Amino acid sequence: VKAKGRNSYLFFHKNMEERSLERILLENEMKKAIKLDQFTLEYQPKIDIKSGKLIGMEALVRWNHPELGKIPPGKFIPIAEETGLITVLGEVILRKGCEQTHRWQEEGYTDLVLSVNLSTKQLYQNDLIEKIKLILRETNLDSKWLELEVTETAFTNIDNAQSILQEIRDLGIQVSIDDFGAGYSSFSYLKNLPVNTLKIDASFIRDIDLNKESQAIVNGIVDIAEKLKLNVIAEGIETVEQLDQLKDAECPQGQGYYFSKPLTADTFHQFLKKEHRL
Ligand code: C2E
Ligand code: CA
Ligand code: CA
Ligand code: CA
Repeated sequence: VKAKGRNSYLFFHKNMEERSLERILLENEMKKAIKLDQFTLEYQPKIDIKSGKLIGMEALVRWNHPELGKIPPGKFIPIAEETGLITVLGEVILRKGCEQTHRWQEEGYTDLVLSVNLSTKQLYQNDLIEKIKLILRETNLDSKWLELEVTETAFTNIDNAQSILQEIRDLGIQVSIDDFGAGYSSFSYLKNLPVNTLKIDASFIRDIDLNKESQAIVNGIVDIAEKLKLNVIAEGIETVEQLDQLKDAECPQGQGYYFSKPLTADTFHQFLKKEHRL
């Protein structure tokens, strides 16, 4: 380290700090949890705003560690991405979601789209397409009932993103841009990328009933989406006032605590029974 001079020392030092004990601990615990099948999924309803009908659900990973308790995905997903564990964890998540959706289909709930979050790391995993195909085959889920949510950080290399997203679309899977508008969104990539849906970031919904700028942005996104023949969904809807603004903006779909929190598979099943009166 010394021989390489000051910069490499600093690099080494920073790296050690980043890989703090907690991180190393969580990495090891994640490996164990994958082996012991301790990751579960919750499902948050997605709603057609005009009719109020359920159209699908977003799968969200949950980790209830036997000693450490509930660890939020915002904490362990970034570590899973850094360490590469997201590859195997992502497969576990996709398989569980597809299995569960197929089970619900067999019970007669045949019109639900499952949305699964795909981290940028996963998008560029070289066997992603093969793995997705395998999981769909093994779980017997038709690809048209699967949607992958990808954030725009995946689009820094637009050519790479375009070809991999096209391969996903060629399988019959839908693609949604998550957290749309939150980063350095550029409408130019909407010209090139084969996506189906824009998911308006919750930050615009949070103050939409008070803030004219947020209203204008949401209206703009809905209009552009309509002209580009893209679907739009608003996330993080918590109040009736926010919902009313989205109705005014003619935003077709919504998701958030106002409709329902993410639910365990059992509770989501209860929700389905009520919704479909089966
Ligand atoms: P995201 O994909 O943007 O997911 C939305 C987050 O907002 C979820 O938090 C959800 O529980 C929460 N949420 C839903 N409705 C409301 C609402 O009305 N108000 C508020 N305040 N929050 C709401 P969660 O489950 O903690 O997930 C956080 C992030 O972790 C996700 O953001 C996603 O980036 C990541 N994540 C979660 N599950 C997975 C997964 O299975 N795979 C991957 N790769 N990432 C995941
Ligand atoms: Ca998401
Ligand atoms: Ca989101
Ligand atoms: Ca987010």
